Amino acid sequence: MPLIDKGHYFSRVRVMSRYHLWTIGCQMNKADSGYIAAYLEQSGCQPASIEDADLIVLNSCVVRQSAEDRVLNKLASLKALKKSRPHLAIALTGCLVDSAVDELKRRFPQVDLFFKPQAFSEMLEWLEGKGMLGQERGFELPHSSPSTFVPIIQGCDNFCSYCIVPYRRGREKSHPPAEIIHEVEELVRRGTKEVNLLGQNVDSYGHDLPAKPDLASLLAELNDIEGLLRIRFLTNHPKDMSHRLIKAISRLDKVCEHINLPVQSGDDGVLDAMRRGYTVAEYRGLVEQIRSEIPEVALSTDIIVGFPGETEQQFQQTVNLLRELRFDVVHVAAYSPRPDTIASRRLENDVPFSEKRRRLEEIERLQEDIGGEINAQLLGRTVEILVEDKRKGKWWGRTRTNKLVFFDDAANHMGQLVRIKIVHTSPWSLSGKLVPEEVRVKAKGALNRMLEVS
Ligand code: SAH
Ligand code: SF4
Repeated sequence: MPLIDKGHYFSRVRVMSRYHLWTIGCQMNKADSGYIAAYLEQSGCQPASIEDADLIVLNSCVVRQSAEDRVLNKLASLKALKKSRPHLAIALTGCLVDSAVDELKRRFPQVDLFFKPQAFSEMLEWLEGKGMLGQERGFELPHSSPSTFVPIIQGCDNFCSYCIVPYRRGREKSHPPAEIIHEVEELVRRGTKEVNLLGQNVDSYGHDLPAKPDLASLLAELNDIEGLLRIRFLTNHPKDMSHRLIKAISRLDKVCEHINLPVQSGDDGVLDAMRRGYTVAEYRGLVEQIRSEIPEVALSTDIIVGFPGETEQQFQQTVNLLRELRFDVVHVAAYSPRPDTIASRRLENDVPFSEKRRRLEEIERLQEDIGGEINAQLLGRTVEILVEDKRKGKWWGRTRTNKLVFFDDAANHMGQLVRIKIVHTSPWSLSGKLVPEEVRVKAKGALNRMLEVS
């Protein structure tokens, strides 16, 4: 046998591009980056540090000015790097890439390729043209981590007045159920135990497909996949979440009891100006329905403070709603005017920055108390978690209600469902002790005996 198989050798020689992928933003961006990494690796590229890379891909977010600023800083530092290494290839994707590519080229001459979110083939064709790809090995799905993001609907048709997403991500486009099911089956074969179905508005899933499937029917089909243990989904829109979906969540054993339901404001006037399409009373009614049909459900929400014209009184309505509904988690952001949006074109950004900050901190303090009290109820209780990874020497996973739980153990628990007795709680996470398998088996035996006796 020859020492070196030539064909193999040459294909190995072409495997030379080292890529560095930098991602910020929402779960959709993280999912897109998972696909980018998978496409690049299947095309013979290898991950590398920024210093060692031949190709740098930035996946950008512009949902708020603060995110955009981080992208701009990154681009500025790459300008210097490109000067010292002119052969470095730089590609930019994500929500910073709008239709005005010429303008982008003028602003960022250090970037060689701009491609829209999800336009993976454009990126690959460009790299192929530059001879930067190794041998195509056929596409394989990204990662095999215990918990994986799976986009089910792209874009958004809602045009909330503050939001840039529909302008940068385009109109809603659902993936056909058969494709999603196939993808999830493949992921499960590769070790995934939990899927997080993604969309800016998962409740409008399917309306653009000929057979008009909905999220409830998709969940029911996914629930039948053997080896899949848990199903999550986000984000819900209060104006579109159906009773049929609530029933499905309650009925299907793999669908987790956690719902992200962004309210954005507790004041009807502000909600109207935001063009959210529901009132506070309607939102409250929906929460009541969810809580009565899905016992032990955990709810999270998003809030924007300092929307144009928001008075102190209107802000206090939001505070009161949070006190009343007691969410498990609240994501709060200060209003940031975004180009093209209705609010930035028609409304004055009149709440001063210092005031937005004060309102934001008031909500954070309130939620710290509420979240802390809710989590404290789990002290001494045993919860089931899916172990996702190790951080600073501790295993971590999430409960079905999306609570982050840490525990110590020498054995490898990656991807396992384990039971943890909670010994410490905080507003943000829990920690506890592993309940050994034998104890559980014994307890189950005792329980069975009790049942037999009774
Ligand atoms: N589709 C989801 C959220 C998408 S954007 C929904 O309908 O709620 C994620 C979050 O970013 C939003 O919930 C909102 O709280 C925040 N956000 C979006 N645009 C913003 C802006 N211009 N200023 C401040 N926060 C914003
Ligand atoms: Fe933006 Fe509204 Fe669409 Fe959410 S529903 S992505 S906030 S436009």
